[in-house]
Amino acid sequence: MNARAAARRSVEALVSGEWVTTRLEAVSNLIRRYGVNWCRKYSLWPLPFATACCGIELMATGASRYDVARFGAEVMRFSPRQSDLLICAGRVAIKMMPVLQRIYAQMCEPKWVISMGACASTGGVFDTYAVVQGIDHFMPVDVYVPGCPPRPETLIEGIMAIQRIVDREGIRNSQDRQGGYRMTVSASGKDQPRGDRSRQAGE
Ligand code: SF4
Repeated sequence: MNARAAARRSVEALVSGEWVTTRLEAVSNLIRRYGVNWCRKYSLWPLPFATACCGIELMATGASRYDVARFGAEVMRFSPRQSDLLICAGRVAIKMMPVLQRIYAQMCEPKWVISMGACASTGGVFDTYAVVQGIDHFMPVDVYVPGCPPRPETLIEGIMAIQRIVDREGIRNSQDRQGGYRMTVSASGKDQPRGDRSRQAGE
């Protein structure tokens, strides 16, 4: 066998062998890990479920002064099938909760939830039988945005926290994430894991 034939044979072995397959798989994993997550985190499509005064701050966040488009989340959608980020802004009546649950169920995976304001997160000042004392009793929540109402900057912190989750976790669906991240943000930008409800209540 001459030298040229031997070289061609070794190249063929290289091309048909596992070496190329492994490298291609590594490259596709890299694109999936960084490329897709990067694109996804800058193209969140929020569904605004605004029921009360927090909704006004949510609208301000989308307007020109705060311009949530800078974070790639300006495409508000009122169809759950076109959205991947549910923003619950305001108090939720017990009668309304099944509607919210159905909307959440109709959103495609992967999907995330922001609970905006004291009322959505705890019932706020509405300590009454008719108001849900925190939507996390009925559905997973990834990020809590505190305040009554939260300022647009704090909501933007919440959206950026979702971006960090997307960047880290990628396309894991909500069931794999086991009921939401329950992370609380502040205007200072420091995320805090949320404690157990019973411990918070001092029980
Ligand atoms: S948290 Fe405050 S601002 Fe938001 S809905 Fe409740 S009462 Fe209104």
